[in-house]
Amino acid sequence: MTFKDLGLAEPILKAVEQEGYTNPTPIQEKAIPILLKRKDLLGVAQTGTGKTAAFGIPILHHLYNAQNGQPGKRRIKALVVTPTRELAIQIGESFNAYGRFTGLKTTVIFGGVKQGSQTRALQSGVDILVATPGRLLDLMNQGFISFRDLEFAVLDEADQMLDMGFIHDIKKIIAKLPPKRQSLFFSATMPKSIVDLSRKILGDFEQVTIKPEQATAEKVEQGVYFVSKQNKPKLLAHIVKEKPDDSVLVFSRTKHGANKIVKKLAQADIRSAAIHGNKSQAARQKALGAFKEGKLRILIATDIAARGIDVEELNLVINYDLPNVSETYVHRIGRTGRADASGIALSFCDKEERPYLRDIEKLIKQEVPRMPEHQFVDADDDSETHTEQPRRKPNPDRNRSRNRNRSGSSKYRGGANKNRSGNTSNRSRGRD
Ligand code: AMP
Repeated sequence: MTFKDLGLAEPILKAVEQEGYTNPTPIQEKAIPILLKRKDLLGVAQTGTGKTAAFGIPILHHLYNAQNGQPGKRRIKALVVTPTRELAIQIGESFNAYGRFTGLKTTVIFGGVKQGSQTRALQSGVDILVATPGRLLDLMNQGFISFRDLEFAVLDEADQMLDMGFIHDIKKIIAKLPPKRQSLFFSATMPKSIVDLSRKILGDFEQVTIKPEQATAEKVEQGVYFVSKQNKPKLLAHIVKEKPDDSVLVFSRTKHGANKIVKKLAQADIRSAAIHGNKSQAARQKALGAFKEGKLRILIATDIAARGIDVEELNLVINYDLPNVSETYVHRIGRTGRADASGIALSFCDKEERPYLRDIEKLIKQEVPRMPEHQFVDADDDSETHTEQPRRKPNPDRNRSRNRNRSGSSKYRGGANKNRSGNTSNRSRGRD
């Protein structure tokens, strides 16, 4: 199937061609015809599947056709709500790209910055508004936003918005939308809370499900290293040094962890930057911009901050921590291997993370290939995955002192092949 077969308006076909897209992705192939028929849609899919175009293109098509060649007064006719600033910016860019020949105007609003330029843009007239929930509600309450003319409402990454505690904001926003509208609801996972929310939002809807393994796991070359928590920084430094030409995105479960990785890499003379919710918007955009332009080779991100990351030349994703929610793993590895490209995703798994690995493998229905033995092993690591005999007789005194000073006592030694993590890893889910 081609985009032409979908019966899209000429300016949109031209823009899609300029983007270099030849064929619709599976979600586009399924969702675009449904949306062109003006049906509500429940999309079970994540970033990386081409879902932005799946909802953006039909919305632009309808709005362009409604203009009938004569752009009327700009009023908000389409609203996209999405959890993070990065994602909002990226969706805004996609609407601008796909709509560049339509004369329609897209504006993006998000928190963490002054509202002045956003309210000015709203006052000058907007066709499509992309927003994060908090700032949207704030500007609605201040009277800057009217949904009187709204025809399309998209709730994107719904599970993530709920995870981030946006449920009340979302409900308040939905309550202000005109009941006669086309609603689109996207979520990577479908826990009960999301099913309930989707029922409140959608009318008579059709569902499109793009399974995670279909979307990414098949295309991405994966591998897992068993490594203790204290040896992860050394293994990371080693890998990124071995791949001097690759752009590397490193995932950390927590914000604090992300900062620590930057510091550890700096100690090994490797420059990197972190993006997470505690960083200012300017710092996040600067780091992300440098990374996308290839000026910064290594970016450390929490899951939420990374939701909006779309880097064409991203060769390598490293899961410094394994996520405790398996779907997050698929999200993460989906940062590489975008669209037609292939990519590599390597994971570091310490002893405490074994159950997470098992859950992930269940979800993706495949075993993550075990990487060859590496050199970063503590002298007295016990065996978890390998069967080599201990090279050193146990020494109770040594073990006692090691236990007292566990975090700082790891050894850097080559040639070993066993793993051990005695630490308690931080199991809290990284939130921005
Ligand atoms: P998304 O899931 O919307 O974040 O899109 C993932 C990536 O796929 C983005 O870089 C898009 O530019 C790209 N993309 C979307 N649709 C297509 C397509 N039909 N062909 C090639 N690339 C696409």
